[in-house]
Amino acid sequence: MADQPENTCAPRPSCPVGYEILQDPLRNKGISFTEKEQKVLKLEGLLPPGFNSMEQQVTRMMENFRKKSSDLEKYNFMMALLERDRTLFDRVVLDYLEEIMPIIYTPTVGRASQEYSHIFQRPQGLFLSEKYRGRLSEVIGNWPIDDVRIVCVTDGERILGLGDLGVSGMAIPVGKLSLYVACAGIHPSHCLPIVIDVGTNNVSLLNDPLYLGLKHERIRGEAYDALIDEFVEAVRERYPDALIHFEDFGNLNAFRLLKKYRDRICTFNDDIQGTAAVALAGLYGAMKMTGGTLTAQKILFLGAGGAGIGIGELIVSAMVREGMAESEARKRCWFTDSRGLVVRGRERVSDAKRPFAHEHEPVPDFLTAIRRLQPTAIIGVSGQAGRFGKDVLRAMADLNDRPLIFALSNPTSKSECTAEEAYTWTDGRAIFSSGSPFGLVTLEGQIFAPGQGNNAYIFPGVGLGIVTSEARRITDEMFLAAARTLADQVSPADFDQGRIYPPLKAIRAVSAQIAVAVAEIAWASGLARHPRPEDPEGYIKKQMYVPEYQRYV
Ligand code: NAD
Repeated sequence: MADQPENTCAPRPSCPVGYEILQDPLRNKGISFTEKEQKVLKLEGLLPPGFNSMEQQVTRMMENFRKKSSDLEKYNFMMALLERDRTLFDRVVLDYLEEIMPIIYTPTVGRASQEYSHIFQRPQGLFLSEKYRGRLSEVIGNWPIDDVRIVCVTDGERILGLGDLGVSGMAIPVGKLSLYVACAGIHPSHCLPIVIDVGTNNVSLLNDPLYLGLKHERIRGEAYDALIDEFVEAVRERYPDALIHFEDFGNLNAFRLLKKYRDRICTFNDDIQGTAAVALAGLYGAMKMTGGTLTAQKILFLGAGGAGIGIGELIVSAMVREGMAESEARKRCWFTDSRGLVVRGRERVSDAKRPFAHEHEPVPDFLTAIRRLQPTAIIGVSGQAGRFGKDVLRAMADLNDRPLIFALSNPTSKSECTAEEAYTWTDGRAIFSSGSPFGLVTLEGQIFAPGQGNNAYIFPGVGLGIVTSEARRITDEMFLAAARTLADQVSPADFDQGRIYPPLKAIRAVSAQIAVAVAEIAWASGLARHPRPEDPEGYIKKQMYVPEYQRYV
């Protein structure tokens, strides 16, 4: 990564002064401007006379945050802070990540997306609407920052497990990019959230007078593809080296777009590849805990969309690396979708699912599939709440000493089971993780700390590795390395509590290690434009932004 943005802004003609600086979230530091700064920057009288350190401001923010009576109010409070004082926002998120992540990310960001047009206050990213077709390059030119390194884009079609939310999906790239900053130290000015508005098929949004997106059905086919092409070209024109992170696209487009662009530009799809790496890391972690081997696992998925197939493909790659034949490795992964078990010869099996459509008689329901296939692990990526019921969990516990239960669907309201259910119905033997966070569970005096199997453990570190090595492409090998590195960060103390992921408070250190692993692959495979430094870890850690107020004078 080239130099960080300047950390001082001595007053000069290009640097705003006076009231204007208070309106600029990247420069504002509220009541932490010193007397000298207030004088030089013409802020005297515009602020109360008292001075607060950043730590005091953090204390005030947390006091207010905790007084809010609902999670959505907390979300609004945090977004107002982001728009007012970005450095303080990033500091608060970093210092209180475990408390704040469930607000600015899953599950509350799901609620915020559903309410987006009703709680909207100020825009926080770029809205590339279909009406700008032919002029996207000009519109991207309106973004005020020249040095963007990571673009996170959605078209809002599959927001978490909540379905098509159209332009309201903007809350997701905003949340994801906040985590690039907090979890991996990417500078906020290097991050650009984008929603591509191609309409929505969500009837209640189309009928909502306050809905802020285009009020027509989604465009599809060639017209859609041409718009995405134009978007990619326009980003590359203005930000030639930026990573483009695709997020929450519908099943119809997610795989196609990844296939189309992955060898042409620096891009990845987080739902497919990031989720795959976090799930594989969870399996590696579970193997370390139980002493099992990956190749001995049989995994049954509930859901065969972007997340499920992405996980399946990465597990196959990992098993092949451990010496298993690919055909054997595929037979270790079985999928069920809304039509039952995915088997060879079944109608309507998409190209992505076909390699996992094995020879087997049709099985209509998940419980029967468990009984017939006898999996060691079940992974829920269906967006269907409660599908891992008591009967499913009991069946897994009957088959396995330590059944692996990953309920990865988001937000919490869509989780296939709760942590408590998983531990209760397996007599505390489950190795459990979930996409959205659950608190500690106490069962017969034993305390379980359920892990959060969320791609937030992966994408920030991968992004940091790509940005610091200035890699031109993102490969599957990088996600495999990210998964291994994440699993290596889990300590025996974590295992004792039933955790297969490191605690969130260690996330910056974890992301740095993932970044080193990813960057090493970029260097070894000739994909990096930045030369390999003598001390990659030291170099990468030095690039990580720490939210501290800049000194002006
Ligand atoms: P998707 O729309 O591509 O796929 C959903 C799949 O679920 C489809 O195969 C569909 O047929 C299947 N399904 C629907 N109803 C079903 C039922 N009753 N029984 C069995 N299968 C059923 O979505 P996706 O991108 O794969 O995401 C799915 C879920 O995974 C979402 O809730 C999303 O939030 C979650 N997810 C979690 C993470 C994470 O980091 N934990 C990352 C990505 C996605």
